[in-house]
Amino acid sequence: MLTRFAPSPTGELHLGHAYSAVLAHAAARSAAGKFRIRIDDIDGSRSREAYVAGSLADLDWLGIDWDGDPVRQSDRLGSYAAALDDLRARALVYPCFCTRADIAASLSAPHGPPNGPSGAIYPGTCRTLPAGERDRRMAAEPHCWRLDMARAVAAAGDLVWEEQGQGLRAADPAAHGDIVLARKDAPASYHLASTLDDAGMGVTHVIRGADLIASTDAHRLLQALLGLPVPLYCHHALVCGADGQRLAKRDAAAALKALREAGVDGRALAADLAAGRLPAGYSLQKP
Ligand code: GLU
Repeated sequence: MLTRFAPSPTGELHLGHAYSAVLAHAAARSAAGKFRIRIDDIDGSRSREAYVAGSLADLDWLGIDWDGDPVRQSDRLGSYAAALDDLRARALVYPCFCTRADIAASLSAPHGPPNGPSGAIYPGTCRTLPAGERDRRMAAEPHCWRLDMARAVAAAGDLVWEEQGQGLRAADPAAHGDIVLARKDAPASYHLASTLDDAGMGVTHVIRGADLIASTDAHRLLQALLGLPVPLYCHHALVCGADGQRLAKRDAAAALKALREAGVDGRALAADLAAGRLPAGYSLQKP
């Protein structure tokens, strides 16, 4: 068994991250497996080294040890580029020149584009550009790369994944529309990088928050298209604050750094979290 915890260094870790890390770590250690850290720093404009160091210090304080050096997405750009080349050669991706404003304007809906599980569903404007225009604009304009979802779904067929303890779930990637795989400002999107990294790191069990369950539809499709192994998934309940809302990086009181600096015993907290006991004022969101 190999599990991982994959923080994005764009803010301080909070109790929800601690819960996720503790579950993934405990699952690996109780099966004599490995536990690894991945730093999801693909978004160079928002990632900060101070948050990388702070996250590792938080994990250490919780008594979480990890195998090998943390993997950094910023060191894996070559694998993202190779996967995109592969999809490009099969005409499963296309360059998209649209801005957010273009996308909103191209839809007649008064409140902007309809939302799918990954955000606004792309209306497909750039999917059918004539080859000449596409080539000319690629040389001159910033662009992202989108998956041609209809072609991808047709190529992959019906897909399922196993949600631990719940059996097989049908994946519904089409609900996401033409997702972005490489951004204008980053060489891979979360979906592409995370899927490739989990496979590249040999992750057997993806243990992460229930907020990412819809993303698994897209990840399962990418696994099929790119010939990657399919891990087992466990999407756990999210930690909520006193207001019943899931924690966010802006909830300063739940930041692990604040608890650490206030003298809270990190190992005792980790043991409580592993047993499903949360500090006063926090709870697990009902599924
Ligand atoms: N880096 C992602 C996050 O912090 C987690 C990715 C994942 O677990 O797949 O939300």
